[in-house]
Amino acid sequence: MRVEIVAVGTELLLGQIADTNSAWLGEHLAEWGIDSHFHQAVGDNHERIVLAFRTALARSDAVIVCGGLGPTQDDITRAAIAEVMNVGLVRDPAIERKIEEMFGSRGRPMSENNRLQADVPVGASIIEQTRGTAPGLICPVGQKVIYAVPGVPYEMSEMFERGILPDLLARIGETSVIRSRVLRTWGSSESGLAEAVNERFLHHEANNTGVTVAFLASGIEGIKVRLTAKAASEAEAEALLAEEAVEVVAAITTAYGDIIFSDHDQNMEETIAELLLQKGLTLGLAESLTGGLIASRLVDVPGASQWFRGGIVSYASEVKFDLLAVPEGPVVSPEAAEAMARGAKRTLKSDIGLAITGVAGPDPQEGHAPGTVFVGLAMPDGSVRSAELHLPGDRPRVRQYSAISALDLVRRALNDG
Ligand code: ATP
Repeated sequence: MRVEIVAVGTELLLGQIADTNSAWLGEHLAEWGIDSHFHQAVGDNHERIVLAFRTALARSDAVIVCGGLGPTQDDITRAAIAEVMNVGLVRDPAIERKIEEMFGSRGRPMSENNRLQADVPVGASIIEQTRGTAPGLICPVGQKVIYAVPGVPYEMSEMFERGILPDLLARIGETSVIRSRVLRTWGSSESGLAEAVNERFLHHEANNTGVTVAFLASGIEGIKVRLTAKAASEAEAEALLAEEAVEVVAAITTAYGDIIFSDHDQNMEETIAELLLQKGLTLGLAESLTGGLIASRLVDVPGASQWFRGGIVSYASEVKFDLLAVPEGPVVSPEAAEAMARGAKRTLKSDIGLAITGVAGPDPQEGHAPGTVFVGLAMPDGSVRSAELHLPGDRPRVRQYSAISALDLVRRALNDG
């Protein structure tokens, strides 16, 4: 089974938005062992969209089209599919009612154009809309099929999983169950992780386990290690994954220490939330170069008020001296970071104080190169420690890396204590 992806939208060709939908679809098709040999991007032009579909159908078994299902003049995917199917469009009254209800429940007036989203090529079935107003379409073309989903990534991904994937798997005759689990790491390189895990593969011939391991570099969020198991039943797939995860975690930890911050795809702040809740501890922050980034990440977690006391953005040196009682002197130093952490803990009445100071760049400061960062941590037992980091990249990257690195230090300290 070969699946071709066609992304529709002139803004993709003009570089106004990046085609993350095709990347997402490519990744998820691969996870299910489905080949995707071609991706196309095409503008909002009827003839060219029709040409793209015909080209795709000539060399692939199924086509996934994303975008152009909206209510405006330039949303012409439906009409292009109807032309390729050689059928007309009919208005589906049930979809029309659903669109009316959606507008009604949001208290928004509905324009007549929105009714166009209820037009369906004759012979197509729909993937019901749950997140946006346009339904997805499953359009048979001879033995082949065109799936159409909205361009909005969050609508597209949900429809892929609910409507497209089951249909594709049924066409392939795939009866096995595929499950995956994601380990999240911070502090090693992709090649380093691959080496650690491959070592184990070599020694244990684990390729026979039916579990595959993939490494996904996720920029400022670290590297994900995804284990995927294929088996006859869900229980069997989950059991294989659990068994394999233990081995992979052991291999990575032996090589690099405590770099896995989650074994079930939680982000860093969710992991910290869980640890703080478990231990009944609260956290307070003093942020300099991150300017509130760490606080912002923490309050993304629902229920953060149970363990997050707050943060002080002590950007100017005087604020560090006056509010946090940092001794006057250099502010990019381990001593300053530790004093800030103590100051945050005391001022915010938290159990733990986390502080960060450093040079975001582009210019050096106090003789330190951009990327030089000191993190201070004041723990509940009164002990205070600091760490020196040298982070790569430009100003935005240094700030983002600083935020996750500082949170990782809290995580490690909580795991130790
Ligand atoms: P809707 O029915 O919800 O209006 P649509 O099918 O008309 O969706 P488009 O109008 O093509 O979709 O795109 C809607 C938005 O989705 C775009 O403004 C863009 O932000 C995003 N989008 C569209 N295509 C892609 C893509 N290939 N990759 C990432 N984002 C995309």
